Amino acid sequence: MSGALVLSAPLDGWSTDLSEAPDEVFAARMLGDGLAIDPTSDTLLAPCDGEVVQLAPAHHALTLRAAGGCDIVLHVGIDTVALQGAGFMPRTSLNARVRAGEPLLSFDLDLLARRAKSVLTPLLVTSDSPFEISQRTLGRAVRAGEPVLELLPRASASTAGARTPRDPLRREVRVRLAHGIHARPAALIAAALRPLAADVRLRAGEHTGNARSPVTLMGLGVAHGARVELTASGPDAPTALDLLEKILGEDGSRAASAPLVAGVPARAGPRAPGEFTGVVAAPGLALGPLVRLQREEIAVAEHGAGAEEEARALEQARAGVRGRLERAAASGGSAAPAREIASAHLALLEDPELLADARRHIDAGRSAAFAWRSALREAARRLAGLTDPRQRERAEDLLDLETQVLHALQGGGAATPAPALPERAILLARELLPSQLLALEGARVAGIALAGGGATSHVAILAAAMGIPTVVALGPEVLQSPEGAQAVLDAGRGVLETQPAATRVAAVRAEVEARQARREAARQAAQGEARTADGTRILVLANVGSVAEARAAVANGAEGCGLLRTEFLFMERREAPEEAEQTAAYRAIAAAFAGRPVTLRTLDAGGDKPLAYLALPREENPALGLRGVRTSLAYPELLRTQLRAVLAARAPGLRLLLPMISDVAELRAVRALLQELSPPGAPVLPVGVMVETPAAALLAESLAGEADFLSIGTNDLTQYTLAMDRGHALLAARADALHPAVLSLIARTAAGAHAHRRHAAVCGGLASEPAAAALLVGLGIDELSAVPAAVPAVKDRLRAVSLLECRALAEQALRLGSAGEVRRLLSLPAAAGT
Ligand code: PEP
Ligand code: MG
Repeated sequence: MSGALVLSAPLDGWSTDLSEAPDEVFAARMLGDGLAIDPTSDTLLAPCDGEVVQLAPAHHALTLRAAGGCDIVLHVGIDTVALQGAGFMPRTSLNARVRAGEPLLSFDLDLLARRAKSVLTPLLVTSDSPFEISQRTLGRAVRAGEPVLELLPRASASTAGARTPRDPLRREVRVRLAHGIHARPAALIAAALRPLAADVRLRAGEHTGNARSPVTLMGLGVAHGARVELTASGPDAPTALDLLEKILGEDGSRAASAPLVAGVPARAGPRAPGEFTGVVAAPGLALGPLVRLQREEIAVAEHGAGAEEEARALEQARAGVRGRLERAAASGGSAAPAREIASAHLALLEDPELLADARRHIDAGRSAAFAWRSALREAARRLAGLTDPRQRERAEDLLDLETQVLHALQGGGAATPAPALPERAILLARELLPSQLLALEGARVAGIALAGGGATSHVAILAAAMGIPTVVALGPEVLQSPEGAQAVLDAGRGVLETQPAATRVAAVRAEVEARQARREAARQAAQGEARTADGTRILVLANVGSVAEARAAVANGAEGCGLLRTEFLFMERREAPEEAEQTAAYRAIAAAFAGRPVTLRTLDAGGDKPLAYLALPREENPALGLRGVRTSLAYPELLRTQLRAVLAARAPGLRLLLPMISDVAELRAVRALLQELSPPGAPVLPVGVMVETPAAALLAESLAGEADFLSIGTNDLTQYTLAMDRGHALLAARADALHPAVLSLIARTAAGAHAHRRHAAVCGGLASEPAAAALLVGLGIDELSAVPAAVPAVKDRLRAVSLLECRALAEQALRLGSAGEVRRLLSLPAAAGT
């Protein structure tokens, strides 16, 4: 449509409605309309061509002026002005002209997740813009560079605020806002002025701007303590000046949530009765009966039955807890966060200081339980006094460990017992321990509302991994809420509504059901085969490293596993896993894929994946040293154990994949060992090779003559083709798998495989890039193995193109001279970091 402006996503992440933003300014659209992205990437890209007309001094937000004078605000996270630039790195400058897809600023997502109220990033078209939104993409994962908003010129551009001033009133005001006039106060000022008939200007130093324009106000760079001059004319000029003086005189912490003054939209008013605001730990929306979960205090006797006996009892209880935690930490059956948390608890259980403290209490005549509790509570108190919230939140882990050992001491086993709960309840508690939450698995909890806790606590991480909407830090008053009543947990805005009106309950129920239906529809579509528009079947599999990921892969429509990274079993431990442990883990993953192909890659150690217990020689260039199959062949016992474990797993669909192959001899050596270990008459395991070195790509035809399939690892193939370290921060953007030289090696690999009627797969990162799927198929690829979450989008892309179109695209790409040109051909933004 003529005059339309298309804005693309500035970040990878989940695109959501602005009302989900935990800040009235954005949620109530005071600053402008648009959407918000819950980011998974850390470089903000320009959503369109434009000029940077405002760059916040704290580097957390900027405004881009696009064609037609359309101002677009990008604000990374909520309340991030308070970070005063920590974690942000501008990649552009004021008045710079940028092209769509160019990096604007980078940020430390981990730091923001810990320190900001929310990382949700609004993308807004300002209210005074001559454009309005005609289409938006919401409620799904988006990739940076993908169109998400379409804007059309407004039928009649607003002229509010354009009145000619007569007899202006003047007032000088000192700005008390803690962070000066940044996005939020600028938006509040504009919102407060909206219903008033007054032309209001604000002068700071030599610059004057229209107070109705948040972008202008932000651009004035007014800092805390600055003196500004306000001028107003028109019938409401006195009211306007009073309002502005009040806003600018606030210390800023109250400005967004406190009821302001007449004229500010209703949503800025006080919360309804029974509403509590907290911090979002896991997003989502839940409706259900509120159920109070109390953690009973375990009664313990203070005095013991003698130091020796108590020390033995404590040792026994710790051994029980240790056994359970070790199983949980190593289990392929748990989600990754649960394994990590079990490992963290294990480390605490073995802490020598804690043990020495407990021992001192025992020696002073205390019981084992009393001693353990005293030692852990003292440590927890010390942690609770620290300023870093992440460290404070570890106090919760100590409490958890206390409970586990006390249960074990009382003969109740090491695990925390699960309480009986009604279905789809919203749990209300002061705090929840990770082990309590794990014990609830399967109880179909609808949501979690905690009076205390932090968004980065282990329980919050677990809740997010379990997909349970969770809001923490709701305040102690929330615990007075009546139990059993229907409550709404809006873990988008961070609000618990304990007395929702019947109409609100009905609306939320409809929304919860609609979200469920949307998820189900997407899941269903993902289950179908991927065929190009003219019917060519392309297999779409997934890369996994645990049973949980295997389940997620199947749920997302993966037709099998194209890469099982067995390193997950070998890393972060003191010795290599035994054969039986490996067999059990491989079986469990194969079972999750229920007979679908499972491509088990032999241990890919060395290089960027060192193993503490393998005495690898010191290497000048580990990336060019003992890596992948070379390590396995250098430590044949390690390889033998793994091959025996694979043979013992005997799962249908299992096939082997050898990493970092550079010639046919390596393949033959592994095959010979496999044959030696295979019981007579056993079915022969198919063996494929990874094409990760230019050598393997150039030898593809010879390799395919002996291998059962070829699978291209584009991550390493790119590193070795371009001679750019895959972990090098400064080269990150240039080590691009879309480089035509890499594409050419992919084409050569596919041709080599097809010469022997073998399949050519891609299991490196490029296979997870939906926009590259057609290109890879055009280069001759028959099979893609992506991260589980990308499977539906990859399938979608393939369904939209014909094989002929794919081939034409590949031919064009192979003629280009740089990765950037290929990106432009695919309408992809420049690689992050350029
Ligand atoms: C690759 O190199 O593309 C690959 C899939 O292997 P990894 O990333 O595990 O090295
Ligand atoms: Mg690799």
